[in-house]
Amino acid sequence: MSDAPLGRLRERLGEIADLRAAADLLHWDQEVNMPPKAAAGRGRQLATVAALAHRMFTDAEMGEFLKELQDGAHALAPDDAALVNVTAYDYVRATKLPETFVHTFAEETSKAYEAWVKAREISSFPAFQPHLETLLELLKKKADLLGYEGSPYNALLDEYERGMRIEQLEAIFAELAPKQAALVERLVNATHPPDTTWTRRDWPESRQWDLTVRILSDMGYDFEAGRQDKSVHPFTTSFGLHDVRVTTRFDAKDPFSAVSSSMHEGGHALYDQGFQEQDARTPLAEGASVGIHESQSRMWENMIGRSLPFWKHYRPLLNEFFPDVPPHVSAEDVYRTVNCVKPSLIRVEADECTYNLHVIMRFEIELALIEERMVVAEIPEVWSAKMKEYLGIAVPNDAQGCLQDIHWSLGSMGYFPSYALGNLYAAQIFERILEDIPDLWGRIESGRFYPLLHWLREHVHRHGRRKLATEMIRDITGAEPMCAPYLRYLETKYGELYGV
Ligand code: ZN
Repeated sequence: MSDAPLGRLRERLGEIADLRAAADLLHWDQEVNMPPKAAAGRGRQLATVAALAHRMFTDAEMGEFLKELQDGAHALAPDDAALVNVTAYDYVRATKLPETFVHTFAEETSKAYEAWVKAREISSFPAFQPHLETLLELLKKKADLLGYEGSPYNALLDEYERGMRIEQLEAIFAELAPKQAALVERLVNATHPPDTTWTRRDWPESRQWDLTVRILSDMGYDFEAGRQDKSVHPFTTSFGLHDVRVTTRFDAKDPFSAVSSSMHEGGHALYDQGFQEQDARTPLAEGASVGIHESQSRMWENMIGRSLPFWKHYRPLLNEFFPDVPPHVSAEDVYRTVNCVKPSLIRVEADECTYNLHVIMRFEIELALIEERMVVAEIPEVWSAKMKEYLGIAVPNDAQGCLQDIHWSLGSMGYFPSYALGNLYAAQIFERILEDIPDLWGRIESGRFYPLLHWLREHVHRHGRRKLATEMIRDITGAEPMCAPYLRYLETKYGELYGV
């Protein structure tokens, strides 16, 4: 037989990719352009398109194509075998959940999301608690339906970080958390915190916009195959290799907030613009895992965008955009300003020294919930205790505490670890990059980002989903995922900055 089933599989996957792109475009419009009264209608449109895509993907015929391709009768080229492999994995996961379960889950999450929005407004966890209890039961059911070895959390983790196991994760975080907390304590007690008084001036939004566009272009983001817009919560979305869009946000008192938002999303977007043309409209044109995707955004945002060579390049340019920045402000001053360490209540505003601690405490809580070692009612109390232990600060209310993140209200547990893994993967990959491009910092200082982008394209981007995150890390570094490189990075950078 010819490659007919492969052709049919590709055709079907292409149609599903088109539907998903349409849904993503509806979602992008919702966040960027949509008038407020359109919300309910848009919700229905999104649900319809998503259901259609899901139905097409879980169709019995899809199972037959895959079975035929996997039975060994067809000699598949490596790229085709990878496609069949990845698709079969998604197919098995998607078909393990009965339609009634998917429907109930969608209904309960939409109620929970509404309840969470209100509960956060009045800062009352009890108003959200019954919904989270329902979702937790559904999540445990989901883990049972999907199947797992060891902890049921493994089944949920697989959705975001396929191949990562809870035992490995716990071992990494057990080493990372106390060391990072100790570093934060040393920095907080340091006698030379950065002086940021020079930033107290007006930073016109239109100039901030121009600066972010300039930086994105310099990074290699292709504005002919994407665009930047403004949204409350910055995000990246892709409708295909040639349409990858980012959003950013502005703070009138702080231009560096927009710079880091744009660079973060730009890192995600460069990944999505770097998949191979031949993988377009297939599941291979996706990131290896959420953690690997996050490694790309965090590397550009923090390791590059908060480095001294980067600001040596952009310091003179700052005056092009903001003529009244005083000449005595040096690149070093900017570098110190963008690297202030201050334990704070809100994860998304956290600096790179404290960020992982926010993530690890959420992971510990959701793991204990899934493994039935604690109940939902205990969350506020446990949250406060962990904030005290890891960051040394008191939580004044639920809104700034356990109600701040959207994830649980969307029925998402197992996602948080990917944020911390992203930082760790970035540091591991970056050590290798510095070996391969010894003069990297010299190039960054002269504004040449291409060697870095070229390296990432070669070793990370072009593989799409051909490798699992752990395989990719192993291939690049020869080691397992670990925290030592990230700790080395933080200790060196902040030890020097803060003189501790
Ligand atoms: Zn991100």
